[in-house]
Amino acid sequence: MRHPKPKEWLSKEYSHHYYADYKPFNFVDGQGVRCSLYVSGCLFACPGCYNQAIQNFNYGNPYTKELEDQIITDLSQDYVQGMTLLGGEPFLNTEVCLSLVTRIRQEFGSDKDIWSWSGYTFEELLQESEDKLELLKMIDILVDGRFEQDLLDLNLQFRGSRNQRIIDVEKSLIMGEAVIWDQCVDGTTKFEKIAKGDMI
Ligand code: SF4
Repeated sequence: MRHPKPKEWLSKEYSHHYYADYKPFNFVDGQGVRCSLYVSGCLFACPGCYNQAIQNFNYGNPYTKELEDQIITDLSQDYVQGMTLLGGEPFLNTEVCLSLVTRIRQEFGSDKDIWSWSGYTFEELLQESEDKLELLKMIDILVDGRFEQDLLDLNLQFRGSRNQRIIDVEKSLIMGEAVIWDQCVDGTTKFEKIAKGDMI
């Protein structure tokens, strides 16, 4: 696994503006019904990465205006709660992601929420390049940190290893430190919550 120094990896030097997959109307990449864009390319090289092919910045297809238009059309459905950015590494594809989230904010304001996964931690992103900070400020929820195989936990909500966190970005930027999303079940497994009667 690799650990970059602040501003060591820049999207403009690595991204080829490719995406690996687009999945409209899914239920797994965050809360509610979501549209998910999987951008191509990642440098963290986590052992046990769920999809090593997607670490390649040339994997998949070029991101296009036509795809962006389709995403906006899909998001306009009332039952869609929001957009999710995954990878690969969204913060090493900031040109693509900024184009999309800027358009989403123009079209929908804050009616649609935006989630992003990242191998960077929230604290690392605060020390990063302008484009990464700009993207961070435009998203609502960040699921942060590398995937650490030794900390694998299949019961975690929306994440694979126990070091990863579901972060409320707006509150965290105000507080100057990571604030966990208030709907995170955080460490308590789904099955334990069912046993306690907290979940249906
Ligand atoms: S950050 Fe995610 S996509 Fe990148 S190597 Fe790690 S697990 Fe794979």
